[in-house]
Amino acid sequence: MLKLLRKKEFTNGVVYAFETDDGFKVETTDTFLPFYTQDSLHRKTNKLNGTYLGDRSERWMVGVSVMSGCPVHCKFCATGQMKKWRNLTAEEIVDQFLYAVYSRSESFEEAREHKINYTRMGEPFLNLENVKQAIGMIDSAYPGTHHYVSTIGIAGSDFSWIKENTTLQISLHSLNEEKRNWLIPYNNKMSISELGQVRTNSRRKTTLNMTLVAESDFSIEKLKEYFDKEKFFIKLSPINTNNISDKNNLGKGCIKYTNER
Ligand code: SF4
Repeated sequence: MLKLLRKKEFTNGVVYAFETDDGFKVETTDTFLPFYTQDSLHRKTNKLNGTYLGDRSERWMVGVSVMSGCPVHCKFCATGQMKKWRNLTAEEIVDQFLYAVYSRSESFEEAREHKINYTRMGEPFLNLENVKQAIGMIDSAYPGTHHYVSTIGIAGSDFSWIKENTTLQISLHSLNEEKRNWLIPYNNKMSISELGQVRTNSRRKTTLNMTLVAESDFSIEKLKEYFDKEKFFIKLSPINTNNISDKNNLGKGCIKYTNER
């Protein structure tokens, strides 16, 4: 059982802080956007057109944690402030989703896109059985949900189960292997060239996410060399600045754009 500690509403959503029975903290988000932002592949951006933020009947996204804390310790990630970590059970993952959805009067499955991002705290492939079980539980109750699973690329991972309405995101962050190793200081991970070989059976391309801290981390030549544009969709993201990114002197990163409000 998760106990709600607090919640914070913002213009297009809510962030929840929960606590598990044994005192571990869990963060969950519930956000929405206009439906047209789904098509960033063809729009070539996910910027908003103007100030209209849509509602939960358009794109409804619940972001769940798969761990409390995280052993990966990415240099820009706020989970680095947490002293301890543990995997969440499938029930604890599903409970976050249910809390977010049951807190609203709108119908999750009636949203034009209803999506769960396994992108809050934790590395899904280090808690794989619980993540797969949670996806199965949610999918049977809410068919057609888009499950979006984000990984740093743990060595030896099996991606064959990523299929149909489940999509993979790979955290790349830098095309310089040494810099990537510094940003994601987890030894047992795939190299950049191994990441380029990842294939899934999803209906959608695999997203290659780059939280760009410096322009020198990007290289169109290396991107073309390692990643087939028919298989990968490139996403450049700004840093969500926090105590840990400041401590590591990452500044505000090189993407300055913010949506106007
Ligand atoms: S893998 Fe994800 S949750 Fe873990 S430290 Fe990196 S960004 Fe944070």
